[in-house]
Amino acid sequence: MTTDVGDPAPPPLFPAPPAGRRDPRPGLSGLSIEALGTWFAERGEPSYRARQVADHLWRGTTSTAEMLTLPAGLRSAVDQAFRADTLIGTTVRPSDAGLTEKALHTLDDGRAIESVLMRYPAREHRRERATVCISSQAGCAVGCPFCATGELGFWRDLSTAEIVDQARFWERRLGGGGRRVSNIVFMGMGEPLLNTDAVIEASAALSDPARFGLGARHLTISTSGVVPGIDRLTALAPQYTLAVSLHAARPILRDVLVPLNRRYPVAAVVASATRYAEVTGRRVSYEYVMIDGINDTPADAVALVELLRGRLAHVNLIPMNPVAHTPWRPSTRDRLEVFAGVVRGGGLPVTVRRNRGVEIGAACGQLAAEMGDQPTAPAVARRRELLVVRSAEALLGVATAEA
Ligand code: SAH
Ligand code: SF4
Repeated sequence: MTTDVGDPAPPPLFPAPPAGRRDPRPGLSGLSIEALGTWFAERGEPSYRARQVADHLWRGTTSTAEMLTLPAGLRSAVDQAFRADTLIGTTVRPSDAGLTEKALHTLDDGRAIESVLMRYPAREHRRERATVCISSQAGCAVGCPFCATGELGFWRDLSTAEIVDQARFWERRLGGGGRRVSNIVFMGMGEPLLNTDAVIEASAALSDPARFGLGARHLTISTSGVVPGIDRLTALAPQYTLAVSLHAARPILRDVLVPLNRRYPVAAVVASATRYAEVTGRRVSYEYVMIDGINDTPADAVALVELLRGRLAHVNLIPMNPVAHTPWRPSTRDRLEVFAGVVRGGGLPVTVRRNRGVEIGAACGQLAAEMGDQPTAPAVARRRELLVVRSAEALLGVATAEA
């Protein structure tokens, strides 16, 4: 789906590189076992063939040639109709002494997307965890100005299999010794709820015990606030964690930081997320990127408390990762602690998140951006100027209120 989110996002900084031709064969990991069974049935094959393919696939096979329980003729028919892996090539960059690894995947048409593995060693009673952050789109139309993906603009939606295959990639890489992907978060490139069909299907595949097998509660869908998408999820009532990228409670500031706010205003987003919480019983996680002197004032903390008080909510404060071409810096530790204190004092559970993989640009979009032509200095300067002007209006509102 292409996306028109209105004008307010700054224009993309990077011209989209030309795309190659798509491979028309769908990826096998995007299919339910029933759909695969129907495909075999139409060819007069018994339904257990679908189970055989699924066994290979979900044990990590990336080539139909390796599906040796199938006769050669059938293997070749499967290969002509489907792809066992939709990721054509991947390069991996380690960081944080190997605890974080970032992958740049190339797709059939040459588009590049990113995923990240973050390992958290065992601590006290907690077992080792491995969280994988995956992309739902190549690029993103929402255009949040602090986000490296937002600077790329929108390239295209990912298919269900392209989403699932990122998780399969890391599962293979972790493989052995009983180590598995323990959590998956849709916090890579793209806005998941602007590619809702594929994201819902991919989430079903990832949380299906007969397929990827991740517990639904270990999957997080992060959204910048697409109200119809949240409502669609609510109707399905899954046990996924919903994360809402809030970044500002005051509408005038959120218009600048999350341009989608002009289409889906913050009050409607929080109302929709609250319905999700009520129907599913799952606490909603509100993400708040802390930007020095922009959204981290005590007035912003008070506005956040007023917005979320009494709701099934958890606030995650994240120091801005300085990867995009902004005039802004991450909040200082002191400002962060004061802000967290106000939120906590207002009765909301709050966590301060440490940035992972900063030196490899773990905020997704950066590696993909490095692949193409770089923006010119005047284009960067124009963008910074625009952001200064737009945020000044929102900040003036605070200064006047506090005077
Ligand atoms: N589009 C979705 C999911 C992908 S972005 C969304 O916006 O929720 C995942 C998270 O990374 C969001 O909370 C986003 O605001 C955050 N993010 C983007 N750029 C960042 C940066 N430079 N520093 C810290 N977090 C960032
Ligand atoms: Fe898109 Fe999320 Fe980045 Fe905003 S933060 S531009 S919604 S990927």
